[in-house]
Amino acid sequence: MTNKSFFIKSYGCQMNEYDSEKITSLLLKDGYSNSNDINEADLIVFNTCNIRDKAAQKVYSDIGRVTKKNSDKTIALVGCVAQAENEEIFKKNKYVDIVLGPQSYHLLPKMIDAHNEYQKKQINTDFIINEKFDFIHEEKSPKGVSSYITIQEGCDKFCAFCVVPFTRGPEYSRSVINIVEETKSLLNRGTREIVLLGQNVNAYSYTDEMSMTYNISKLIDEISKLDDVKRIRYTTSHPNNMDHELMRLHGSNEKLMPFLHLPVQSGSNEILKNMNRKYTVDEYKKIIDNLKDYCPNIEISSDFIIGFPGETEKDFQETLNLIDYVQFKQSYSFIYSERPGTKAATIEDITPIEEKKNRLSILQKKLEGIQLKFNTSFCNTNISNVLIENQSQSNPEYYFGRSTFLQPVYVKAKNLVVGDIVPIGIETCNHKSLYGTISH
Ligand code: SF4
Repeated sequence: MTNKSFFIKSYGCQMNEYDSEKITSLLLKDGYSNSNDINEADLIVFNTCNIRDKAAQKVYSDIGRVTKKNSDKTIALVGCVAQAENEEIFKKNKYVDIVLGPQSYHLLPKMIDAHNEYQKKQINTDFIINEKFDFIHEEKSPKGVSSYITIQEGCDKFCAFCVVPFTRGPEYSRSVINIVEETKSLLNRGTREIVLLGQNVNAYSYTDEMSMTYNISKLIDEISKLDDVKRIRYTTSHPNNMDHELMRLHGSNEKLMPFLHLPVQSGSNEILKNMNRKYTVDEYKKIIDNLKDYCPNIEISSDFIIGFPGETEKDFQETLNLIDYVQFKQSYSFIYSERPGTKAATIEDITPIEEKKNRLSILQKKLEGIQLKFNTSFCNTNISNVLIENQSQSNPEYYFGRSTFLQPVYVKAKNLVVGDIVPIGIETCNHKSLYGTISH
């Protein structure tokens, strides 16, 4: 036990956010107190992301900033940069004391003790994922209305641009019992919406002691049986794991939201092939058509990589054509960022950065236009299904919620209950959000 404090900073994806929560609970259990001030804390944990070069570089500038003021702190660099850069990290920054891969974060308290006792740098980048989930213990603190649960980690897909298979290791699925237990704990602490999380979440596959195999559809059905679960979402999915059972479930399970994040990355077959995505544009479109057949009101969001090596103007136009076809209602789009050690890093890239920026801007304007049109279609209508997530601290007459399509909804109302699902009359909007009042 200790009377020291810690500060944790999380970079990148929702899975890192989730891991940071678990690290926080491990450290609290070990006697640390949670500090909001990086300069005051004795221990600083940087939970890193390696998906883009910028995210990886940012952690080093953050370490530089904090150690300039005070170099006595214990610095732990955990997560995907730790896994990818390993011992190199100690050479890059002499102030880092502990390097810990994403599959071993449950070892952090022990490594801190070892560092303190022997005054030696500590490193662990082993893939011991099954052990990690055994260390996720019952927590007591209140939770938000919407909570993530990691059900699957790692990836076997090896997209040419991605480091995840190297940093998170092969696909691994958590046990159903373990997930249901964590869901119950979240429900007891206020959660009403469960977001199942995985690098390849729809590749989930777990066989229990009775030789019963659960895919993600069966897992969703299992979680739906819990009364207090009002909504279920899952992310991030790979198109090749969208089977008919899962697509059908969007139309038959009322708790499963009619909104799916299904990254396509590009609308060009040539680029998809070079990305090693293993589907064609027509196959992706077929999935969308099938989803719409099973669940006519489903909406799709996606990820796009612009300026992948070799992307021509024609390839880019094909991406715009796919956007016209699918009408994505949300998206994340980025200029390609080379990651050392990936296949894409070996492909010649001759497109000037200015051209890439121009393409990204065209694509984002197009997607914003679709979002605005979609949001505008709700103005002067009542939407029945807004989950109220919180109340404004500064003005208690304002609440924040989310629609079934994940649109942020700002509501003026009196006496709403956080966690309730309520009808809202939408008055105005912009491309990002809806604004309204409670409707009766
Ligand atoms: S599916 Fe591709 S992009 Fe997604 S985690 Fe796996 S390798 Fe990375």
